[in-house]
Amino acid sequence: MVTAWAAAQRKRELMTLSYRSPPLRPMDVEIQVTHCGLCSSDLHLIDGHWGDASVYPQVCGHEVIGRISAVGENVAGLRLGQRVGVGWYRSACLACEFCLRGQEQHCPCLIATCTHGEHGGLANYMHCDSRFVFPIPSALSSEHAAPLLCAGVTVHTALKRATEPNMAVGIVGIGGLGHLAVQFAGKRGCHVTALSSSRHKERDALTLGAKRFVDLSEPVECKRVRNALDYILVTSSVACDWPTIIDMLRPCGTLCFAGMPPPVTFDIASMMYKTLSITTANVGGRRDILDTLDFAAARGVRPWVQSWPLEDVNQAIRQLRKGRVHYRAVMHVGKEHDPAQ
Ligand SMILES: [Zn+2]
Ligand SMILES: [Zn+2]
Repeated sequence: MVTAWAAAQRKRELMTLSYRSPPLRPMDVEIQVTHCGLCSSDLHLIDGHWGDASVYPQVCGHEVIGRISAVGENVAGLRLGQRVGVGWYRSACLACEFCLRGQEQHCPCLIATCTHGEHGGLANYMHCDSRFVFPIPSALSSEHAAPLLCAGVTVHTALKRATEPNMAVGIVGIGGLGHLAVQFAGKRGCHVTALSSSRHKERDALTLGAKRFVDLSEPVECKRVRNALDYILVTSSVACDWPTIIDMLRPCGTLCFAGMPPPVTFDIASMMYKTLSITTANVGGRRDILDTLDFAAARGVRPWVQSWPLEDVNQAIRQLRKGRVHYRAVMHVGKEHDPAQ
């Protein structure tokens, strides 16, 4: 039997839920979960913000680390006891045009890890298609690896596609996504400016690798970075003074959204004047997940993590709702404590 933590109804605290695992299909593995990150997407699912994506009892968790405890008869390349991770999705067709391009996240048959009735990783065991299970590099602790599977791959993939060494990159928001984006951009050789309305995060931003900090609530500071940035990645989900942010971009610059702020209105003329682009980031494909894990392991990108035992998941959720997690929440599941490999 699986023991999970689930929301019985919208916006409820999580309670334990027991269920029998489905039979292991030929390409599936069973994972004994040791760690699971909490992401703001989990809060949206608990609260029912995304319509029928939530099915109650809702078992969240899509930054899953654990050890393989059973393998289906056709599984290749993974072994019992191996340390692995699972991200936002657990399966796709692997035959459509998007899958063939390595953009499995756009597959029309995509099955997300913890939406539409699928049970995620806030549990002691989960099943997953073995082709969507990723070995974890030995240099990464499990606690550090978990947040890379959703938050990490989201920002790293955006930066990988759009930035080059020596580019001037702005990161809006120093939080769960932003603190990783500052690290990834810095380690990619970009000149990073942290943009935040929280002056108290300046020291963190500089420690994470930003070269300067701009307080978005200070118009004089903002003016100093007019026409100074090639690329701005928005990682916060709160409203900003968008004209001021756009003013910071150099001609032909790009504004990319990885966070989900309230609806934004743009003055197209001001964007056209500098031939600016607007784009978005999502979780990336399987190759992007492997790239993110490898880059983080080799270059020393490490999430700043606060951890709780799974039994205290409601306490972690309360902290996450208040924006008090510094900067990613990871649940420890069972007795295994953060193995090096
Ligand atoms: Zn997520
Ligand atoms: Zn497909």
